[in-house]
Amino acid sequence: APAETPQVVIDAHGLPYLDRRLPVHKRVADLLARMSLEEKAGQMTQAERGALTEAGDVAAYDLGSLLSGGGSAPTPNTPEAWAKMIDGFQLRTRATRFQIPLIYGVDAVHGHNNVAGATIMPHNIGIGATRDPDIAYETGAVTAAEVRATGVPWDFAPCLCVTRDERWGRSYESFGEDPALVDAMETVIQGLQGRADGRDLDRADKVLATAKHFVADGGTAYGSSTTGTYTVDQGVTTVTREELEAVHLAPYRTAVERGVGTVMPSYSSLDLLGDDRGPVKMHASAEMINGVLKDRLDFEGFVISDWAAIDQLPGDYASDVRTSVNAGLDMIMVPYAYRDFRTTLVDEVRAGRIDERRIDDAVSRILTQKFRLGLFEQPYADTRGASEIGSAAHRAVAREAVAESQVLLKNSGGLLPLKPAQKLYVAGSNADDIGNQSGGWTVTWQGASGDTTPGTTVLEGIRAAGGEVTWSQDASAPTAGHDVGVVVVGETPYAEGVGDVGNGHDLELSPADQRAVDTVCAAMRCAVLIVSGRPQLLGDRLGAIDALVASWLPGTEGDGVADVLYGRRPFTGQLPVTWPRSQAQLPINVGDAAYDPQYPYGWGLTTLTSVPQGGLPALTALGAAAGAAERAGAGEAGRAAVTKARLLVQQRVGQDVTAAVAKPFAEADHLLLTGRYRAAVEKLTAAYRAA
Ligand code: BGC
Repeated sequence: APAETPQVVIDAHGLPYLDRRLPVHKRVADLLARMSLEEKAGQMTQAERGALTEAGDVAAYDLGSLLSGGGSAPTPNTPEAWAKMIDGFQLRTRATRFQIPLIYGVDAVHGHNNVAGATIMPHNIGIGATRDPDIAYETGAVTAAEVRATGVPWDFAPCLCVTRDERWGRSYESFGEDPALVDAMETVIQGLQGRADGRDLDRADKVLATAKHFVADGGTAYGSSTTGTYTVDQGVTTVTREELEAVHLAPYRTAVERGVGTVMPSYSSLDLLGDDRGPVKMHASAEMINGVLKDRLDFEGFVISDWAAIDQLPGDYASDVRTSVNAGLDMIMVPYAYRDFRTTLVDEVRAGRIDERRIDDAVSRILTQKFRLGLFEQPYADTRGASEIGSAAHRAVAREAVAESQVLLKNSGGLLPLKPAQKLYVAGSNADDIGNQSGGWTVTWQGASGDTTPGTTVLEGIRAAGGEVTWSQDASAPTAGHDVGVVVVGETPYAEGVGDVGNGHDLELSPADQRAVDTVCAAMRCAVLIVSGRPQLLGDRLGAIDALVASWLPGTEGDGVADVLYGRRPFTGQLPVTWPRSQAQLPINVGDAAYDPQYPYGWGLTTLTSVPQGGLPALTALGAAAGAAERAGAGEAGRAAVTKARLLVQQRVGQDVTAAVAKPFAEADHLLLTGRYRAAVEKLTAAYRAA
């Protein structure tokens, strides 16, 4: 804390709520009983820090929280400046009656992406491709350590969206299309928060997490090229109750069990089939927030609205406030309208249109998390961990995540791994661009191309391997004398909306990227890496490509891509979403009746050299895997046996994925994730026979 900062003296007023020896619920009850209605309403108000007319508003309006929306950063954008900025706001709360600390929130959705120089992890879509709950945990732990060291105790992550239509511009914020996969990656919550009972939250390397966006944000219908930007992002999810439960709600059950501290409702609306009410905005859904999340799932944390989301509800402002608070929202993100909101909330309670018990419940939930975070004892930044921001140790975790996230879709003639002696021709828009490989939510909300933050590009990673490399971004005149071409193409950064896909909202490569692939692949054997937030359509071009890799949005550690390219680590990633053949197939998901994708969900070749085939005929080996899986039950050994069986089938199937193979393969991956190993092997055997 800065030298001029007055320290909180425990028991300053001799009041019980300041006594850290008392249990949290007693401290909450004591404090709540002393607060005025205005003070309570203030706690429920969250303002954008850049929208404060003056810093004194923190105290004048008893604000409970501030955020940096879209990462809105101090100048200069350094860890020190973040800590100083937030300490400055905390200092303002010292001028209030009860000195209730602020809870400051940011979107750290792939590392502390708000701060230049932080370690940028792969976006969630890449984490889903790893199929590795341990690496998901580790990335969460590194993120939490970097975030808390800048004085921020609260992270609006993880996104638990189950993406069902990749035309959605937030698909890369999803771990994948299968709720079982999203579920498996929720170890990230422990990485961020620590133990599920909240006892680690006061540590200097832990933060409060947010499960978002409740519920079915990944299910919004999208099929028309004429719909406006926000239709796809904030549209309507039309599902049966069964599908809602099984696909979109399932990840929240796990999140509550894992003790997630906050939940953010979705901008989208829910339209339940067989229910004649029509679409209901999630921010107005008492049925889903009070009924399902709080009552049925027993969520004890607090619900934070999305950015200005209550403004989208029908009716006047008083009605927006009343409807959302009565639906169960505890804190409202009113970036600019913090004065109006607080006043209106107080008026609505005084008029009897919101029960004061609802306010007490909301404020109790908020205060509980503030006490758990230790903010009453230490409201200021504990910056001892700041020297670790972007450190080699943290980048090593990111690099590992990157390597595990790479999915080898095709590998004709065993082109990969590369050999250091090979002469390479490297080209493409995303080969040498940290901004592009990091995607949206990187330093700024939308992210940007170029040198936005320190790290290693894919090209730099390749160069570090020491071989001879010719580099040409636009693939001009690839001359003879190269052994292999490596073309890195894909998307440029975007956040929310539909992304960079243009009016057709399709997933085609840009004309320049298409030219780069065509030119290089016509001139030499080529590996194509797709750096993007979602699958890209390749069409006939695929035939000319020898090796194809889905690299997702790897973040700052391009070395991790080079690790698998050069075989320092094997490719082990698996598709977290179905890779379509054409635009016409969208949306396409595992479980669909007609399923004939380019590559099925769960697909991913491996360069593991120890693939077990031994002398055993494949079907015998599969039978053995089934037996081993059964004996081992739902444990690690069972999983390992089925994973071996999967590799075996992939070897047999090779590059030719037919419809007959795709479906059992995708289903086997789902069964593997849900621990039904014997059934998984049966599906794999079916795929093998079909091949
Ligand atoms: C996004 C949320 C985010 C919030 C605050 C909104 O536009 O939908 O995911 O947490 O902004 O930045």
